[in-house]
Amino acid sequence: MNILIVYAHPEPTSLNGSLKEFACSLLESQGHNVGISDLYEMSFKAIADGNDFRERKNPHQLNYLTEQMNASKNKSFSQDILLEQEKLEWADFVIFQFPIWWTEAPAILKGWFDRVFAFGFAYGPGAYDKGNLRGKKAMLSVTHGAPNLNNYGEFGLKGKLEERLFNIQHEKLYFSGIEVLEPFIFPSSAPLEIRNDYFENYKKRLLHIFEEPTIPFHPLSHYQNGQLVNEFRKD
Ligand SMILES: Cc1cc2nc3c(=O)[nH]c(=O)nc-3n(C[C@H](O)[C@H](O)[C@H](O)COP(=O)(O)OP(=O)(O)OC[C@H]3O[C@@H](n4cnc5c(N)ncnc54)[C@H](O)[C@@H]3O)c2cc1C
Repeated sequence: MNILIVYAHPEPTSLNGSLKEFACSLLESQGHNVGISDLYEMSFKAIADGNDFRERKNPHQLNYLTEQMNASKNKSFSQDILLEQEKLEWADFVIFQFPIWWTEAPAILKGWFDRVFAFGFAYGPGAYDKGNLRGKKAMLSVTHGAPNLNNYGEFGLKGKLEERLFNIQHEKLYFSGIEVLEPFIFPSSAPLEIRNDYFENYKKRLLHIFEEPTIPFHPLSHYQNGQLVNEFRKD
């Protein structure tokens, strides 16, 4: 299978860098093809602006969504966006490897979503279970820095990390039709032996990522006027 790792950390020798390398070696040893988008190494431009389009529908006033739809139809995005979109089309599975910064992904990854998950390419006219990237799967592999492992959780000081990740898992990935596995969450400030256990746990998950069940988000048919009306059911 084709697996793309989208990696957002500025330091190759970091824990995130190790997790990216670990996943890449393990998955290749299992016969998968692995591609990597190393956003810092690529100096990936995080700012969405008019330079993202090689031709403009309206050169006088920038409406970013209108230009995204136009560029999706005409393949007229800037080269860096087109390359990332080609990698997504190639991938059966996408792993996002990043540290939690201010409760979310580093800005360079947010910018990647803004520019690459374009209207007309990733979604539009349909979204969620009608999104354009249907058939693909993804998983977030994140590290956090909470000094006390109990900081995260239902009754923890910081609440559930999964709730912070909803905006990527549901509102970007599933919004674009991608099915999402439970995140892999690594506490970076845990003692060494616990960190080693997490590498072992990651290995166990990576060996079976194509068989793991995905998060059962509701299909659009369960909603009326934006409100959930149906009993939970996975089609
Ligand atoms: C701007 C900013 C905002 C932040 N906001 C938040 C926030 O909102 N919430 C939050 O929880 N945290 C936050 N943090 C903390 C951040 O999440 C952690 O610093 C980050 O997750 C650690 O990942 P790293 O790859 O940088 O780790 P590193 O600093 O590289 O490493 C962490 C530890 O892992 C060890 N390590 C490295 N490689 C390995 C390996 N192969 N095997 C075993 N151990 C290894 C290192 O020696 C070190 O002890 C923030 C940090 C920044 C810079």
